[in-house]
Amino acid sequence: MTSHLVIGILNGDDIGHEIVPAAVEVTRAAAAKTGLEIDWRPMPIGRSALDTHGSTFPEGTMETLSKMDGFILGPIGHQAYPKVPGAINPHPIMRKGFNLFANVRPTKSFPGLGAIHEGIDLVIVRENNEGFQPDRNVVAGTGEFRPTEDVTISVRVITRVGSSRVARAAFEIAQQRKKRLTLVHKNTVFKLGCGMFVEECHRVAKEFPEVTVDEVIVDTMAMRLIRDPQSFDVIVTTNMFGDILTDEAAGLVGGLGMAPGLCIGEGNLAMAQATHGSAPDIAGKGIANPFAMIESARMMIEWLGHNRKIAQAVEAASIMEKAIAAALGNPATRTRDIRGTADTAGMTRGIIAALG
Ligand code: ATP
Ligand code: MG
Repeated sequence: MTSHLVIGILNGDDIGHEIVPAAVEVTRAAAAKTGLEIDWRPMPIGRSALDTHGSTFPEGTMETLSKMDGFILGPIGHQAYPKVPGAINPHPIMRKGFNLFANVRPTKSFPGLGAIHEGIDLVIVRENNEGFQPDRNVVAGTGEFRPTEDVTISVRVITRVGSSRVARAAFEIAQQRKKRLTLVHKNTVFKLGCGMFVEECHRVAKEFPEVTVDEVIVDTMAMRLIRDPQSFDVIVTTNMFGDILTDEAAGLVGGLGMAPGLCIGEGNLAMAQATHGSAPDIAGKGIANPFAMIESARMMIEWLGHNRKIAQAVEAASIMEKAIAAALGNPATRTRDIRGTADTAGMTRGIIAALG
């Protein structure tokens, strides 16, 4: 057991250069207060790495990251990369290489930010490595085919192992919370795919007798997230359903800047990654909401604290949580997208000041 953590810093693109340093600053300040030692390792990635290293994902990055405890990954704007050799999307390589199959995305309402309801506190656990997304589709390669000019076939892959491991991750989280887990699917139509997912969830449920399980069909879930989001605790679902529902959930509590995420998987490595994209429209203006990135980093530190049994890390996460809530409670220390007046730097300073 080590008492210090090695954490990579990968800015990503666009607003990543603003919100990742914010997340590092806040985490560094919290760590200093609790005596947690963090060895920060900045790594080149994204558009800037293409200029300096000739690749958006320089060789050896995976190897170096695999020796760390975790890393903060800023949003990647790969759709805007130039079509040149070396311009590659690092996401699929990381997700598959580290087998980060569970994407943990909490949604919490804070008073005064424009949330549609008060009292929302739920976590969506999204399967991250299979399903409909072509780049994740291990069995079918690309996952999409065009047998004739007028017909396209998209393939969705669901496996027993993929379903049961994400289910287990979700049950473990539910066990630590209100002990309620909702399975979201559409096995009324996708009898085989969603059917297998649900079967595996119920199989894993036997390991967690204290957790109450219910099921909601995905279209009903889209409606219920708007009508009564307070009635949910932990939700587990397949990849694309999770992708859509997490953006909807973010909309409930003030928008994409309020949507953090943590990717976890087979190994001990944790990846902090906000749900939103690189937001090129507001990049360089210093106005991006750093909450999602800071909260993702906080979740990572908390997870590593429990996983590695480092009390100072759990403590650092706990004081960050209080400081973030305090800053969000004051319009002067929150950004404009969430009814505040601060810029990114102002909100970051506000959180650090509230650490005590
Ligand atoms: P992706 O395809 O990567 O998911 P996207 O098309 O969903 O990207 P985003 O980059 O997530 O787009 O941005 C969508 C909108 O939300 C943009 O107008 C952007 O300005 C806004 N947005 C995203 N993140 C933030 C943030 N952290 N703070 C403020 N606004 C944000
Ligand atoms: Mg998006």
